[in-house]
Amino acid sequence: GYNSSRNLNPDKKMLNTPRATSNVVREVERLKEQREQRRAVHDEQRKEKYELMLKDPGNPNWEVALMVRTYRDQLVLNPLRQLSSRAARVQQITVCVRKRPMSQQEVNAKSVDNISVPSRDTLIVHELRHRVDLTKVLEHHKFRFDCTFDEKCSNALVYDHTARPLIRTMFEGGNATCFAYGQTGSGKTHTMGGKFAGKKQDCSTGIYAMAARDVFAELATPKYHQLGANVICSYFEIYGNKVCDLLVKSKPVLSVLEDGSQQVVICGLTKVPVASETDVLGLIELGNRARTSGKTSVNMKSSRSHAVFQMGLIMPDQCEPCGKCSFVDLAGNERGSDTQSSSLQTRREGAEINKSLLSLKECIRALRRRSSHLPFRGSKLTQVLRDSFIGGDQNKLCMIAMITPGMSSVENTLNTLRYADRVKELLTKEENSP
Ligand code: ADP
Ligand code: MG
Repeated sequence: GYNSSRNLNPDKKMLNTPRATSNVVREVERLKEQREQRRAVHDEQRKEKYELMLKDPGNPNWEVALMVRTYRDQLVLNPLRQLSSRAARVQQITVCVRKRPMSQQEVNAKSVDNISVPSRDTLIVHELRHRVDLTKVLEHHKFRFDCTFDEKCSNALVYDHTARPLIRTMFEGGNATCFAYGQTGSGKTHTMGGKFAGKKQDCSTGIYAMAARDVFAELATPKYHQLGANVICSYFEIYGNKVCDLLVKSKPVLSVLEDGSQQVVICGLTKVPVASETDVLGLIELGNRARTSGKTSVNMKSSRSHAVFQMGLIMPDQCEPCGKCSFVDLAGNERGSDTQSSSLQTRREGAEINKSLLSLKECIRALRRRSSHLPFRGSKLTQVLRDSFIGGDQNKLCMIAMITPGMSSVENTLNTLRYADRVKELLTKEENSP
């Protein structure tokens, strides 16, 4: 036949006869049909297998998993994968959301991933509800932000759309601030400080390090090289209303003062001159060791404090930076579990964290409105970051809200998204007003 190997060079005359041509066409169509049939059977088998897997009696959540899956199947998925366009206009305030992947424990526990990220700026949370007759239904909460990152997005991609555009700000003499917000375990430290391999953290993969890399690249350009500008770093923690220096082993508590011109000063804060990304990485590692030391378990304590890493640009013969970048790994925003079982101390901490996060929101609002009233004294956090909220356009700010997949986190997830949404919603309204 025409398909045999001997007949690689088929006789033209034969193929050109109408009968032969129609035979070939028919044969091709027959094969195509067979292929399609096979594919349909295969798809059907795969689907059945999938449903069987979901109905696995060992999986208590199969029904909900199937409901989420059915909803997700009809979404058109086009999640963010590209780096940002370098020419894009940088907004004064950017609010983004990052969903972390399910952990191995969550997968083992057959927890249901209840967050869908269909596009680069939208996100849907599927919440499980029970009707009066106890049947299960899903409620779909849709949100829109400047960027939404699904579980496949890398730290580098997140950095590119969030903090990277703010590096320029420091070189233009402004203050740039980037916040990681969210419940404990949602990925704030992973994003800011870098990936964990067991208990060890690879600092070079975090936003702090990527920012440092870009700062030194900019500093090496002829413009800044000639000016002889330098960079200094500090790293401190706010626990309750105490500010502790993370670059000194004993973690001394520092006092915060306001001078006559309302300048906020952290007395005695260590400011280390740095000349390379390696220098910065060394400081971060030093600070992280201090952050997690102490009797209480590692994540317990660090999740209840805000960590602030700062880089400042210093011109020759000056001692105060002319521009600054601040990166803030905020305390966990979770509520609720504290109220009954916990000690008075824990509840006080919770209240303090709550107060600081509310103040933060108010201060971001004030920045946006260019309000002359800046409620920065509402908390230690906003007090030490006062510079981030004043001034006009030269200050830029970005918030990355981190969320945890899984039905058991849905309340915290919705709280996080509503907080982030209020920051964003206010902006849109005000932008629209004359
Ligand atoms: P938080 O600082 O918000 O309490 P962590 O950054 O410590 O949370 O993250 C909690 C756990 O989840 C860590 O084990 C971390 O490695 C993992 N994790 C968080 N985000 C991601 C991510 N995007 N990809 C992979 N693992 C992540
Ligand atoms: Mg953390």
